[in-house]
Amino acid sequence: MHELSLMQSVVDICAARAAEQGADARVTHITLEVGLLAAVLPDSLRFCFEVCAKDTRLEGAGLEIIEIPGRARCLDCASEVSVTQLYDTCECGSFKLVVITGEELKIKQMEVEQCA
Ligand SMILES: [Zn+2]
Repeated sequence: MHELSLMQSVVDICAARAAEQGADARVTHITLEVGLLAAVLPDSLRFCFEVCAKDTRLEGAGLEIIEIPGRARCLDCASEVSVTQLYDTCECGSFKLVVITGEELKIKQMEVEQCA
């Protein structure tokens, strides 16, 4: 499952960053930006987050997912078009679309709390 390995790396990165802030630091909230072209389902990401976060510094943390729509630029007519899937074509008929946004999956923000 694609989402599970993605979430595992997100959890690993966040846990490592939290660890830098103190031995007892816990992650309370993370915000992810997920491109709609990234071929991952937000619901599935949420489920995988619960699974991956268990027994880590992220257990019980809130997860916010911001969906980034797909945008691409056409190399033939230079217009910027919205795309819903990779390999969409431009209105001018060109296949030469370069994706600008929509493929990302990145950690936009995380909140860390020090536990006593
Ligand atoms: Zn075009």
